[in-house]
Amino acid sequence: MISEAMTGLGKKRSTIREIFEYGNQRAKIVGRENIFDFSLGNPSVAPPDCVTEEIRKFVSEERPEVLHGYTSATGLEWVRQAMADSLNSAYGTNFNKDCFYMTVGAAASLCIVLKAIACPGDEFIVPAPYFPEYKCWIENTANAKCVLIPADPTSFQINFGELEKSLSENTKAVIINSPNNPSGAVYSEETVKKLASVLEDAEKKWGHPIYLISDEPYREIVFDGFKRPFVTKYYKNTFICYSFSKSLSLPGERIGYVLIPDEMEDNRDVYAAVCGAGRILGYVNAPSLFQRVVGKCVGKTADISIYNRNRDVLYNGLIEAGYSCVKPQGAFYMFPKAPEENEYAFCEKAKKYDLLLVPGTDFGCPGHVRIAYCVQTETIERALPVFKKLAADYGIR
Ligand code: PLP
Repeated sequence: MISEAMTGLGKKRSTIREIFEYGNQRAKIVGRENIFDFSLGNPSVAPPDCVTEEIRKFVSEERPEVLHGYTSATGLEWVRQAMADSLNSAYGTNFNKDCFYMTVGAAASLCIVLKAIACPGDEFIVPAPYFPEYKCWIENTANAKCVLIPADPTSFQINFGELEKSLSENTKAVIINSPNNPSGAVYSEETVKKLASVLEDAEKKWGHPIYLISDEPYREIVFDGFKRPFVTKYYKNTFICYSFSKSLSLPGERIGYVLIPDEMEDNRDVYAAVCGAGRILGYVNAPSLFQRVVGKCVGKTADISIYNRNRDVLYNGLIEAGYSCVKPQGAFYMFPKAPEENEYAFCEKAKKYDLLLVPGTDFGCPGHVRIAYCVQTETIERALPVFKKLAADYGIR
């Protein structure tokens, strides 16, 4: 007998992966250049030069048995200090190396935090639109209840009416993600302040901490000079789950961190729980070479202006074609309304033109579709006439 739940998860690929695999099959038939694959959030921009330079340096200068050896479970001290220094100089914060726990990317950061804090009967609130894996991690890693709350589709900021209705004495944490996958929305300072105030009131009412888990793999991918509020400055019981997957275009190398600020209640016990969760989940330590690489490259980014250009080309093209869409301010996703209520039907019609989009229901937002525009700009330019043709099929222009 084996776990039915795990077998089920293993047999059912995520919708995004299904569409991506479909695209690969179609590419074999019609040619890669004829597939407009907007399914996957794999960065299309190369890592900055410092990444390759530092890999070369470490490989040639560090003793191999050290470079490839185990590190301390929390991560190398100088690397954690580099994380603190970088944030302190960017945001005027006051972190130190002991606030950081290096991880195998944001997915691991989130699983570790969930496991570290979840107790029987706990609920985790997730505002839509959300990254679909949250539900899977809350239910299967933390064995807790996932409470999904509907989006505010006019702005994709938080739907506070729904949030306030969902808070209860069982609420352990709220998970937010800004810049957001799939909407590209970036939470304003007003949103973050209001969220902090709602959670502080709930903490007082229920008499226990309610954590904010801020999932930030797209932190630096923000457009139009928007100043993204740094959440720990507004709410003390905040975990930051960070990853270098998108900022440095390193998703396959699996490197990130959990940040536990000193202001967090009982922060040393919480830090110990994070270490315990990392241990039982079997992570041992974050990749040794890439800890060192991000220790040297932290604060730098891949060329984000390319995503900005893609956003402009795609957004202007979609609006001109008659689609309705909240303009994204960050990440590399766009989340327009499908021109019919059933977005699955729309995605199927798009598929006939080899245009691959992801239905919004998976992100808790029916009636929308996600376009991952981390592709070559030229692919977007060639796809726009197809979007136009589709719009014409619906008679919206
Ligand atoms: N959270 C969000 C919102 C994401 O979009 C992703 C990946 O796309 C992750 C977490 C996982 O990131 P990582 O590759 O760092 O595990």
